Amino acid sequence: MSKPLFGSFEAGKSNGHMLGPLQKIHMPMRRFGEGEEVDYLIVGCGSAGGVLLQRLARAGFKVVALEAGPFWDTERDWVSDESGSHELYWEEPRVTGGTDPLALGANNCGKGVGGGSVHWAAFTPRLHPSDFEVYTRDGVGADWPISYDVLRPYYEQLELEMPVAGPAYYPWGHPHGYPYGPHPMGGVGNALIKGCTALKIPVSIGGPVAILSGSHGDRPHCIYRGFCIQGCKVGAKASTLVTHVPDALHQGAEIRAHSMASRVELGKRGRVTGVHYFDREGSAHFQRAKAVIIAGYSIETPRLLLNSACPGFENGLANSSDTVGRYLMAQAGNVVLGRFDRPVRMYKAPPAHALTEEFYETDPKNDFARGFAIQTVGPLPIALGKQMIAAKRVWGWGLRREMMDYNQWATFGLLGKILPWPENRVTLAEDTDRFGLRVAHVSFNLHANDKKLIKGAKEKTMEVMHAAGANEVMQEARYAHLVGAARMGSDPRSSVVDKFGRTHDIPNLFVCDGSILPTQGSANPGLTIQALAARTADYLISQRDAIFESNELDLTEPTLRRELAPPGTYGKGAPRLK
Ligand SMILES: Cc1cc2nc3c(=O)[nH]c(=O)nc-3n(C[C@H](O)[C@H](O)[C@H](O)COP(=O)(O)OP(=O)(O)OC[C@H]3O[C@@H](n4cnc5c(N)ncnc54)[C@H](O)[C@@H]3O)c2cc1C
Ligand code: SF4
Repeated sequence: MSKPLFGSFEAGKSNGHMLGPLQKIHMPMRRFGEGEEVDYLIVGCGSAGGVLLQRLARAGFKVVALEAGPFWDTERDWVSDESGSHELYWEEPRVTGGTDPLALGANNCGKGVGGGSVHWAAFTPRLHPSDFEVYTRDGVGADWPISYDVLRPYYEQLELEMPVAGPAYYPWGHPHGYPYGPHPMGGVGNALIKGCTALKIPVSIGGPVAILSGSHGDRPHCIYRGFCIQGCKVGAKASTLVTHVPDALHQGAEIRAHSMASRVELGKRGRVTGVHYFDREGSAHFQRAKAVIIAGYSIETPRLLLNSACPGFENGLANSSDTVGRYLMAQAGNVVLGRFDRPVRMYKAPPAHALTEEFYETDPKNDFARGFAIQTVGPLPIALGKQMIAAKRVWGWGLRREMMDYNQWATFGLLGKILPWPENRVTLAEDTDRFGLRVAHVSFNLHANDKKLIKGAKEKTMEVMHAAGANEVMQEARYAHLVGAARMGSDPRSSVVDKFGRTHDIPNLFVCDGSILPTQGSANPGLTIQALAARTADYLISQRDAIFESNELDLTEPTLRRELAPPGTYGKGAPRLK
């Protein structure tokens, strides 16, 4: 072990902190004192929070992340077993409602260092250029305050940092290629290819997915055993836990695990001064900071802002627009199940490895705006069992009989764009959690365009499954990927944050996670969330001390700081086809 620089990392360990069989954090973590004022305090060390922490630490700032969940030692804490991975999810109480209530818990966010990137499937398509100007093009939803071209260099950068494996030429949206080669096909990918090819639908094979198709630094390549959503004990799947957190710690960042932020404190000068939080034992603490960034996911971020109501912000902090919590979005995520005569063996591959975006854009022939994607999904037996109960209404012996044929089932998932609506929102319920904090109430309602889109997408996905040769096809209605609820925009009357994530109301309070997305596409959101985090970090770094000392707004676009990427990630991989 290296000589400790700052004190003990975690007591009682002799083998360092393992993040896979090879990757080890073997230096102790820096600890900031209780009364010490840090530069940036980040709430949540997930997809966005992990990237922010790494960049800001590398730029020399004093930075701490408060993380409600544990700091995983993957060799000690994780199992390659479906039923043993439940602790990866945010299972604290929440209330769901509306005409089309969302399933919460395991279906949305993570808890622990790495956040949702620990249990994501790691599909990493980019948004299309059209997603940034949906209102201008289609008269629905909203336009973003930035264009695709602004985010494009950050997409390219994060695709190297994760890194992303995929085809040399990807035809949809802004066509591009991937620097790391695609994965071989599993049975479910073969089924999608067969169905799409029979219907003359182009399909992307072997990615884009943030899973190593070859070994990379101290991370081994994928061994195709299908436990991606259970965390990937191998370390082949990208999560900020393995991609960005190790470098953040080496640069002197602190992650305070088991630390639940309860309230952001507003000081006398209209600027925030730090965050109150509870530790594992329920003791209350306060961390002072020159600036605060909330990166807690689309439910916990608005919840924290609403729970931080105070004189001057009685309806919630940074909520003068009454937009905090509103415009929450999920993607339609219906799962289509097909039974085949021969074994498919879905588990023998990452669930994410083939997709088509052929139906992504608005098509005048449809009776709805925007579109959808079709992707492989590879549920393990417990997940397939649940889907079978919902789709086929079987139980007891009937369910057992179906599950005996597990190896013969394939599943495809559709990802459909649901539009942002003001009444789809996070508010505070009367119920409280174990810290006495009011829990989130999530209200969700489908509108006419959403319903028509889901119907069209469902029919097309079932058609592909039939064309693949399935002899029995059914579907389960579900949703995936929550974003929105603290959206970005140029107008402070209708958005919470500006194009860099700075709240319109408070100059040293930022939001940076999936909640700032004004619309979503039919692409999985994780890559976009991390790309936005890298851009926000570049902005903060370019502003240096101005964020801490001044209320002046400088909206100059920063330059991409490649030198701040985790080491060994830039300049590798095959040259891209642009
Ligand atoms: C099963 C599943 C599969 C998925 N697959 C994909 C995929 O293939 N591709 C893709 O792009 N996306 C996928 N996603 C979605 C993706 O994981 C999320 O969109 C993404 O992780 C959200 O990033 P975030 O930064 O907004 O929040 P998160 O990554 O969830 O991070 C938020 C963090 O904040 C912490 N936190 C929250 N509140 C507090 C508080 N008050 N105090 C302290 N800490 C707090 C949480 O513990 C968490 O660690 C999947 C999601 C699920 C559930
Ligand atoms: S299939 Fe690959 S990425 Fe998924 S858990 Fe296994 S080794 Fe990790």
